Amino acid sequence: MNKDIWVYIEHAEGKIANVSLELLGEAIRIKNNMQKPGQVVAVIIGSDVRGLAPKVLEYGAQEVYIAEDPRLKLYHPEYYGVILEQLIKENDPHIFLMGATYLGSQLAPMVAAKVKTGVAAHCIELKLDDQDNLIAVVPAFGGKVLGDILCPKHRPQMATIKPGILNKPDKTEASGEIVDIDLNFLDKLKPVLKPLSLCREEPKGVPLEEAEIVVCGGWGVGDKEHWQLLEKIAERLGGAVACTRPPIDEGWAPGEHMMIGTSGKSVRPKIYLGFGISGATHHICGMKDAGLIISLNKDEQAEIFKVSDFGLVGDVKEVLPLLEEAFRLK
Ligand SMILES: Cc1cc2nc3c(=O)[nH]c(=O)nc-3n(C[C@H](O)[C@H](O)[C@H](O)COP(=O)(O)OP(=O)(O)OC[C@H]3O[C@@H](n4cnc5c(N)ncnc54)[C@H](O)[C@@H]3O)c2cc1C
Repeated sequence: MNKDIWVYIEHAEGKIANVSLELLGEAIRIKNNMQKPGQVVAVIIGSDVRGLAPKVLEYGAQEVYIAEDPRLKLYHPEYYGVILEQLIKENDPHIFLMGATYLGSQLAPMVAAKVKTGVAAHCIELKLDDQDNLIAVVPAFGGKVLGDILCPKHRPQMATIKPGILNKPDKTEASGEIVDIDLNFLDKLKPVLKPLSLCREEPKGVPLEEAEIVVCGGWGVGDKEHWQLLEKIAERLGGAVACTRPPIDEGWAPGEHMMIGTSGKSVRPKIYLGFGISGATHHICGMKDAGLIISLNKDEQAEIFKVSDFGLVGDVKEVLPLLEEAFRLK
């Protein structure tokens, strides 16, 4: 039986996304733990992407499939979906991993539906059972438990993982084969979508992933007025503001680009300050590797205290104005 592990290589403007390299490292780790290992295979789709293959081989892929065509310059779900469907049907991989990015979160379920398999989305860990089958670990019930997701009857076993959860592997000596995919079948397609351009919105202030200090607010911050105090504190500390899910739903925080956790970003700042956050697994797995974790919650039993270096029991509404004033004077 074919035990190949595939990794979808995401890229933009000639640069491979870090998450794809992280997944290559994970694919090698899984392969090394298999009883009867297959190959680690990378798949690159795009226009003018051949130059990315050597780097992919350096990061451990043993084979690289390249689908290159001017029509594939920008991400096009209809073309990309059909190419992956065809490739999977021809090669029958055992496992297929993608980044849980905006692109991967759209592409993975679409491909899974085409080849009639499932996807474990936003996993935080991947393991194997004693038959070399994938066990994808996903937080469930608001992050209170971790669920093992299995896909015993269908192939490939697909999973997506957020950037930053896994470590980037070391480079190795590149060796492996580059295989060109015949794309003649694309001529028969009549896509209804037409991608126009790739737009990147530059974030304001310090980018969350690069910030040495992260000031993170949760539902306990309570209202927009107190949220603004949090923003001022972050600005004065030269840090970035971050949030859990509820402040986005409440409209205090501007968007998901600020969210930390399984569906958000994984960060490793020197200092993480958390205000009014309960400590659900969905959030914890994105911040637990911060250097120093200080959190404030009015509930002394809050889960966040279990991963905190300093836990302060208090009311955010009393503490935030005091902190804002203290940093204003400096
Ligand atoms: C599939 C899925 C993916 C998810 N992904 C993410 C993710 O990536 N990131 C994420 O963060 N969440 C995510 N969630 C949501 C997650 O499960 C939790 O619901 C969320 O993290 C809880 O946010 P919170 O701690 O701000 O709110 P709550 O859990 O409601 O906690 C609020 C805390 O504030 C405290 N508090 C209240 N008032 C005060 C006060 N005045 N002073 C001090 N403390 C106070 C309370 O004691 C409580 O501990 C996801 C959920 C699902 C289902």
